[in-house]
Amino acid sequence: MKKAEIISVGTELLMGQVANTDAQYISAKLPEAGIGVFYHTVVGDNPGRVGEAVSRAFGRSDVIILTGGLGPTQDDLTKKAVADMFGLELKRDEETVRKIEEYFLKIGKKMVPANLSQADFPERSVILENSCGTAPGCAILFKNDVPKAVAPDKADKIIALLPGPPREMQTMFDNELMPMLKAMSKLVFKSRYYSIIGVPESEVEKRLIDKIDGCVNPTVATYVGKGYVSVRVSYSGEDAEEVKKTLRKYDTLMKKRFGDDLFSTRGESVQENFLRRMKERGLSFSCAESCTGGLVAELVTSVPGASSVIRAGIVTYSNLAKIELLGVPSETIGAFGAVSAETAAEMAKGAAMKCCTDVAVSVTGNAGPGVMEGKEQGLVYIAAWYKGELEVGEFRFGGGRENVRTRAAVTALDMARRLVLRKTPEKKPSI
Ligand code: ATP
Ligand code: MG
Repeated sequence: MKKAEIISVGTELLMGQVANTDAQYISAKLPEAGIGVFYHTVVGDNPGRVGEAVSRAFGRSDVIILTGGLGPTQDDLTKKAVADMFGLELKRDEETVRKIEEYFLKIGKKMVPANLSQADFPERSVILENSCGTAPGCAILFKNDVPKAVAPDKADKIIALLPGPPREMQTMFDNELMPMLKAMSKLVFKSRYYSIIGVPESEVEKRLIDKIDGCVNPTVATYVGKGYVSVRVSYSGEDAEEVKKTLRKYDTLMKKRFGDDLFSTRGESVQENFLRRMKERGLSFSCAESCTGGLVAELVTSVPGASSVIRAGIVTYSNLAKIELLGVPSETIGAFGAVSAETAAEMAKGAAMKCCTDVAVSVTGNAGPGVMEGKEQGLVYIAAWYKGELEVGEFRFGGGRENVRTRAAVTALDMARRLVLRKTPEKKPSI
């Protein structure tokens, strides 16, 4: 695997006036090319120190990317420093001169000689077009540590010089440099994303620790999503087919370790997955909500294409609304309270009946703060209805009011998913 080093040039970065977002952007993208980032260096606008940084990087890295100091303001400090290091002359590129002249004509400003220095590049370098500004970048390719005008797939090292302004840098990196780096690294990098619900992140990590600790390729990492945990598995190899196969093996491993708690092998959120499954089966959906105040409906409708599935969401916050809009018997509320399994069941059934849907969920609970009608904060009852089958769950969610509401809403969709899957199992599971 090629090793990369990013050298960001700019005293403003050292002084803390500007955050080094260029290095962050590049670091996040390089794995796509199968290149590992090993060092970040920040150095001030000083030719000696830039030269020193490049020299050290050249000794330990294969891909060296510099950002900043390309414009006319710093007198081409970066280009000169790098060219000097390898004994390369700066040569004026006539095509770039023409572009700069055209640019100044267009904006009606007078050009100063310093502007033309942007058309100077170390000899034997490849010019990287700047479609968002005037200063182009360049790349020097190396074969056996000697600068050579070779095709990227024949090069073993590269030094690329990119502009500092983020928009210019990003466009140039994506359009000009990335294709060269991919050709150079010859590695295919791919990730697979798994979504898990009902298992805390620390427990997910524990169950995968043998695949996380000390593992370099593939790498496994966990993230927290909205009410679920996402696991990313990344792998790079030379053969696209082999990469695909290796990653696919993780489907079986994840299924074995997480069972039905693993709801997606495509990186879906709870609501995206829920909606896809409902669509696949042609099912209609409604919800009756109390303490989530519409959050279930909001989650579902945030996914494009929700209209073919969701028919209605009813927020019944008061007891009267539960009775009048959903048909919950007043005796049920009277005997068990609004926050109870019995009321949740009647709410889900009521939503399915009133809205004529195949599937319905209901949520009733105490999101807090404090105790309500003798029910502690975080106690939530959720019911799921599927064509006459009813299931009710009692949950105790921790955290503040917002957390209780979010967890309750995603759990409601998850309960409906499990119920539907149990009643209509797939021949070939499509998680
Ligand atoms: P210009 O033609 O604008 O002078 P340049 O390539 O010479 O561009 P710099 O002068 O080093 O680049 O930086 C220009 C501006 O770009 C900085 O003031 C800063 O706002 C932003 N910038 C530079 N480097 C970075 C970085 N590493 N991360 C984020 N922003 C940066
Ligand atoms: Mg500058």
